[in-house]
Amino acid sequence: MVTHLLAHPRIQVRVLHAPPIPEYTDDAWCLYDAQRTLIDTGQALVLALGAYTDSFLQEHFGLKLLTQPVRGQLSYYPLPPILPEGWPSLASVAKKSMIPARLDKEQQALFVGASFDRHRDQAIIDHTDRQTHLQYLAQNHRSVFDFLADLGEQGWQDFAGVRSMLADRLPVVGAVNGQKNVYILSGLGSRGFSLGLLCGELLASQINAHPWPVSLGQGNSLDCNRYLRSKPD
Ligand SMILES: Cc1cc2nc3c(=O)[nH]c(=O)nc-3n(C[C@H](O)[C@H](O)[C@H](O)COP(=O)(O)OP(=O)(O)OC[C@H]3O[C@@H](n4cnc5c(N)ncnc54)[C@H](O)[C@@H]3O)c2cc1C
Repeated sequence: MVTHLLAHPRIQVRVLHAPPIPEYTDDAWCLYDAQRTLIDTGQALVLALGAYTDSFLQEHFGLKLLTQPVRGQLSYYPLPPILPEGWPSLASVAKKSMIPARLDKEQQALFVGASFDRHRDQAIIDHTDRQTHLQYLAQNHRSVFDFLADLGEQGWQDFAGVRSMLADRLPVVGAVNGQKNVYILSGLGSRGFSLGLLCGELLASQINAHPWPVSLGQGNSLDCNRYLRSKPD
């Protein structure tokens, strides 16, 4: 899906090795690198930096987004091309989720997770999380656990990230009050895959003054200013 979205002729992707510096000049937003080389210009500046949106706002706009970072980790095991008879074909969701295989014939992997850690805001791998995931697998999907144990424990890998959440568990989408054409799309929490596209469409509609894909009440309930405050000195 992401590959298809990024193939849109009007979407350009640039990978930067350091965060750009925004500046509003001559009715346009300019992004510079640390050497003051101009990277890009545009009419609107959209901040969609996940859990880093708050620190970017603090540094460049003196604003604080009242987010609750929630670190999460999932464990995955790259699978061999041939799987045993009876291998589960559907994801299972109990206290945790188990996704038996990615639908990609080249490389399949089993995913287990994810953890929710409200005490840390860094994407650090924690081996306790993996142990919890393996325990869940052993208790709920014994044959899967045994098959992977036979393949060898060293095959397990982990991914950690930080989710950005707000107190009401809704995303923040829209224009920042008092700023010229600055927009935020963040706070997708643990529902970014399902909510991200709709929120993106809402934001594009707001920027272009097009009809919204949701009701006025629904769109307004996501207004980013509800959780924006001036940064204390
Ligand atoms: C372990 C884990 C499991 C998850 N599982 C699910 C799931 O099953 N379903 C689901 O819907 N959601 C899931 N989520 C949540 C989902 O990943 C997020 O909701 C989603 O990624 C949020 O999208 P985003 O674009 O707002 O932020 P991100 O995906 O975090 O993207 C922000 C981007 O901004 C970049 N960035 C940061 N700072 C700067 C800067 N200064 N300048 C330029 N770029 C910058 C970052 O490098 C990053 O690429 C999970 C999250 C975790 C951590």
